[in-house]
Amino acid sequence: MGRLQSLYNKAPYGVQSVLLNLYALGIHRERYGRPFARALEELKKTQWYSPDQIHQYQLERLQALIKHAYDTVPFYGKRFAEHGVRPEEIKDLEDISKLPVLTCEDVRTAGEELISSKYPKSKLIHGHTSGTTGSPLSCYWDKQTCVYNNAVDWRQKLWGGVKYGDGIALLLGRTIVPTNKTTPPFWQHDRIHNMLWMSSFHLSEEYLTHFFKKLNQYRPAGIEGYPSTVYILARYLKKIGQKFPVKAVFTSSETLLPLQRELIEEHFQAPVFDFYGMAERVAFAGHCPEAHEYHLSFEFALNETIDNDGNPVEPGKEGYLVGTSLLNFGMPFIRYKTSDVTAINTEQCNCGRHMPRFTGVTTKDEDIVVTPEGKLISSSVLTHPFKPLDAVQESQIIQEKIDLLRIKIVPREDYTEKDSAHLIAALSQRVGLSMRIELEFVENIPRTKAGKFRWVISKVPLPL
Ligand SMILES: [Zn+2]
Repeated sequence: MGRLQSLYNKAPYGVQSVLLNLYALGIHRERYGRPFARALEELKKTQWYSPDQIHQYQLERLQALIKHAYDTVPFYGKRFAEHGVRPEEIKDLEDISKLPVLTCEDVRTAGEELISSKYPKSKLIHGHTSGTTGSPLSCYWDKQTCVYNNAVDWRQKLWGGVKYGDGIALLLGRTIVPTNKTTPPFWQHDRIHNMLWMSSFHLSEEYLTHFFKKLNQYRPAGIEGYPSTVYILARYLKKIGQKFPVKAVFTSSETLLPLQRELIEEHFQAPVFDFYGMAERVAFAGHCPEAHEYHLSFEFALNETIDNDGNPVEPGKEGYLVGTSLLNFGMPFIRYKTSDVTAINTEQCNCGRHMPRFTGVTTKDEDIVVTPEGKLISSSVLTHPFKPLDAVQESQIIQEKIDLLRIKIVPREDYTEKDSAHLIAALSQRVGLSMRIELEFVENIPRTKAGKFRWVISKVPLPL
């Protein structure tokens, strides 16, 4: 995507429209079409499964996955042997704890040993984790995983009353138009899925007038973005004393703060449906209409929580979220330990579903960067320049002044000047050239008093 994105960035607006729709067509082949329609129909039924049905559903898939991993994935063949576990010993869901957890470092060290010999790498789709708290990881997904990841996402859209094709305005991390563009349009229309991709790099008071002129004309059923990007829109609506009613707002990737939710719900006159997913594809969870809690898609992954010593934690108690993808046979993740801490609740929700749920993760924290031109930039969109940098072990962005970003980097041994050059160029492209960027190499990055890791720390007050 790196080379394509730079080609896209240099193209005139009309050519960009064509390129974006070609990109959308690629997405369509990867995760829509008939397999998607079938998956969504299935998920509309399974969401009403009883606890027994859920158990049976997960057990069948888990046993198939374990056998497949043992037989065709070199890493697991060795690992199962080391721990003296045979696939037929996994007789029930809790037997999964006979296997050790898979850490981020395990995945990095294993590399392609984690890919099934039944899946040629060329048939798999390559992705990266954002690498904000650790370093970015390369992940490979098979087609089934991409289709179902999209289908669980759309199932939640249906919970919010938004159907495929209804129109959704997106405020995510990609550069949609050049970041130094000063006249509208600051958006592109994906006509294949009827989504309006709006630039998250033009969120200043001056440009937001144009955003809402376009939104009034487009009339989306839903808005989707990071909590911080949608919050910036809501703050603007508050300032001009207006409302922009939609059916639902969908947010993800950052902690949704109560004050953000309140302002967004008031000014978009719709509920906020936050969702949680990750590039490792070991969990997908989203708010239902009845609770500010996240329903885990049990069809997607088997999730558990563990303590610091790796022991299972009982329902209702906090622990690290661990996930086993029940779909990604191309690169199986079995008992992958995330850095997120939460408690899983298995009681029936007021919405009637028995899908397990959690109350929210407590380790993520986000902030907003302000540019000298007055643009507000969500930290989530700044994760993108870091994604290809495998040689960065940890990073942190500190906005010292309106025109100064200090980037702390814990480099790995193979870090080179090229990585620095890439980082500065990709960040400058997003925050503009009037922002100075200084790299500082450190051995570690301190946590907050509460033990939290803050990826972005801004010392500059927000306008609006
Ligand atoms: Zn519910």
